[in-house]
Amino acid sequence: MAEFCAQCAKQYGMKNGFIGECKPNYLATVVCEGCGVIQVNHKGECVSHDCDNGYHAVDWSISNK
Ligand SMILES: [Zn+2]
Ligand SMILES: [Zn+2]
Repeated sequence: MAEFCAQCAKQYGMKNGFIGECKPNYLATVVCEGCGVIQVNHKGECVSHDCDNGYHAVDWSISNK
């Protein structure tokens, strides 16, 4: 089944398949139909600046708390 990250879901009019894939402040490695193998945050947003879909990645930084 095809799954899309938040940005691709918006772009293609699809559903975000990766919401809640990991806990807040963590990343999950997933396969997005638009991006290829990427990392997403807990909101399902692509954070991989080198993904196949160009430059839509959101900034993500590790919280050291
Ligand atoms: Zn992407
Ligand atoms: Zn994507």
